[in-house]
Amino acid sequence: MRGVSLVLILLAFTRIAVAGEQRTFLGFRLLDLENQSVKWQSPRWGERAAVTYAFATHASSTEGARNCAKMLPPEAAYAPSHISRTAFRREVAAAFRMWETVADITFREIDSAKAANILIGAQGEPIGRAFTNVALKPATADGRKVIARSLICLNPRQPWKIGFDGNLGVYDLRYTIAHEIGHAIGLDHPSASGQLMSYRYDERQKGLQPGDIKGAALLYGARSGTKRFAGSGIATGSSHAAAIKGASGWPFGIGEGGERAGAR
Ligand SMILES: [Zn+2]
Repeated sequence: MRGVSLVLILLAFTRIAVAGEQRTFLGFRLLDLENQSVKWQSPRWGERAAVTYAFATHASSTEGARNCAKMLPPEAAYAPSHISRTAFRREVAAAFRMWETVADITFREIDSAKAANILIGAQGEPIGRAFTNVALKPATADGRKVIARSLICLNPRQPWKIGFDGNLGVYDLRYTIAHEIGHAIGLDHPSASGQLMSYRYDERQKGLQPGDIKGAALLYGARSGTKRFAGSGIATGSSHAAAIKGASGWPFGIGEGGERAGAR
């Protein structure tokens, strides 16, 4: 039932967007886990957070995780596509930077997969393209829960690439990981397309879109000294845009709107 209602909500949003009323279409949607929005460290909107991340170093299982319950080191996903470790890490760092430059949240890589707030790896049980699992801490005295740990996992049986080429059957790593980071910090899918957090993969725009930026800034505060929307959503060239015209893109996970973050 939840899947059905989610699709209906997405359709409603799309209608509003089609009407062209930016003021009524927020362009973002907060994750709703256990009937509350969730974020790192402080449950209060607009308060900053400092988050660590690491790469899985061995096969591991997370009991109770809805997504990414079994994880492998990320090499399992990118190496078959002839992507080097250096290139993969550069793309991941760039994906984190996208969010850092617009909201008051920082990400620091650490070595310990066990201690990291966000763990990145490949799926032990391949499904869809990429998933995120968001687990919450127990409620504090005021009943609020903050994020305890997020897992991001890529399907090792799917091909991956770096950069856009118009082939929507192969997902760009930076775009995909930036989308999954959005889930890992508390954002859900606002719509089918138009924002980085929209649930369809397409190559119409690189980087965060106005709705993505608004959502992240609402949760963690706007990054001071950063011009809003500055250079974050530069469209690709017209020949490239023509090449993908009419392509609707594929969802990140499985089924329309089926890919979502899960809470324990
Ligand atoms: Zn998603």
